[in-house]
Amino acid sequence: MFEYSTVNSREVPLFRDVTEEQWNDWHWQMRNVITDINTLDKVADIDRKEHEDLEKTLGKFKMAITPYYAALMDSSYKLCSVRLQAIPQIAELNDDVSDMHDPLHEDVDSSIPGLTHRYPDRVLLLITDICSMNCRHCTRRRIVGQKDSNLSWDNIQRAVDYIKEHTEVRDVLLSGGDPFTLADSSLERIIAAIREISHVEIIRIGTRTPVVMPMRVTDDLVNMLKKYHPIYVNTHFNHYKEITHEAKEACEKMANAGIPVGNQSVLLRDVNDCPRIMKKLVHELLKIRVKPYYLYQCDLSKGISHFRVSVSKGIEIIESLRGHTTGMAVPTYVVDAPGGGGKIPLSPNYLLSHSDKRYVLRNYEGVITTYTQPSNIFSECWCELCKNNEYGPLDGVASLLNGEKLALEPKDLARRHRNGHT
Ligand SMILES: *Cc1c(COP(=O)(O)O)cnc(C)c1O
Ligand code: SF4
Repeated sequence: MFEYSTVNSREVPLFRDVTEEQWNDWHWQMRNVITDINTLDKVADIDRKEHEDLEKTLGKFKMAITPYYAALMDSSYKLCSVRLQAIPQIAELNDDVSDMHDPLHEDVDSSIPGLTHRYPDRVLLLITDICSMNCRHCTRRRIVGQKDSNLSWDNIQRAVDYIKEHTEVRDVLLSGGDPFTLADSSLERIIAAIREISHVEIIRIGTRTPVVMPMRVTDDLVNMLKKYHPIYVNTHFNHYKEITHEAKEACEKMANAGIPVGNQSVLLRDVNDCPRIMKKLVHELLKIRVKPYYLYQCDLSKGISHFRVSVSKGIEIIESLRGHTTGMAVPTYVVDAPGGGGKIPLSPNYLLSHSDKRYVLRNYEGVITTYTQPSNIFSECWCELCKNNEYGPLDGVASLLNGEKLALEPKDLARRHRNGHT
């Protein structure tokens, strides 16, 4: 049996006099975020060396830990998976040769502040820089905790206008920062404006509050959200230790309001770079009705190189999950392509070889098996959607497969110039 821990503020001397009402009030949590070494000293054992390192690191990067998450840390064990995500390490100052300021080109690909329209049918809208907590591995640390402001209403309106004009956008993803740091009324104003756009089918929200400040997920919040269905939420658990009684309640509250909740983990050295930890995490997630969605390879953002592990580790984790447990529990492992290429899924190889007639496949047990192709493999599609060209022409590699395009070529392909084409 998995025991859900309850974060007990009474166990941490610093919070001994905090009332239950204060502790469970997310505004109190945000007002009392730990940002300085002296306060941190009172919740964690910081030795002299760590103290010196912290002073240096805080010169460059901010620290912010919610009291709730601080109380979840093992105060003395430096490799505690929660502590590692919360307390800065000197390694953040290392500049790795592969580090980039904005690896995913979120700023470059953003003609309207806050808005990134990367994929054909969906947009990402960063509505705030503010998070309840500054996760040490944050891929958006170039933004988060820098100016501490919300996207202005003017810019929200520009984004809304853009979405209105682009009828192909059927999915709007609100992120930040953390959208749940906004007051219910401010968040509602944004969601309502987007919901008014008839071609927007689904609205998704990315938030880590269920993990780092679960008291934020109030009845009022979910009652507001459910007025604008279909709403989806993706959250960010990295370790099963984060699945406390409080986190469970927050996720169940959303599920009970009809909000499907997904999880996006980041693969982090010493935090969750182990197939067993990941397996336990995904199982515990399903138990609180959260569906594992993505497992991210750590991005190339500055100051997080010490968290990166090899891509092979991600493949190994997926190998240990697929088939060994339900497909419901298996996230898609992705590398978010530097330069804005988007998420690229990686997986172990299950296809060993093939001929005209047969595919040779292996399963999770290592059994090698075959699939004999049906004799009528070549068929044209007669479906209504194709006949009516409902989704328009295909793009990318998909357009090669269905014969819409013969080849995809780089725009400045040297061979084309040599042969006298333009
Ligand atoms: C991740 C991401 C999305 C959403 O991708 P899904 O695969 O649909 O979850 C959209 N836009 C940007 C820029 C993203 O990084
Ligand atoms: S909650 Fe997300 S955006 Fe905010 S600091 Fe953590 S990882 Fe970054």
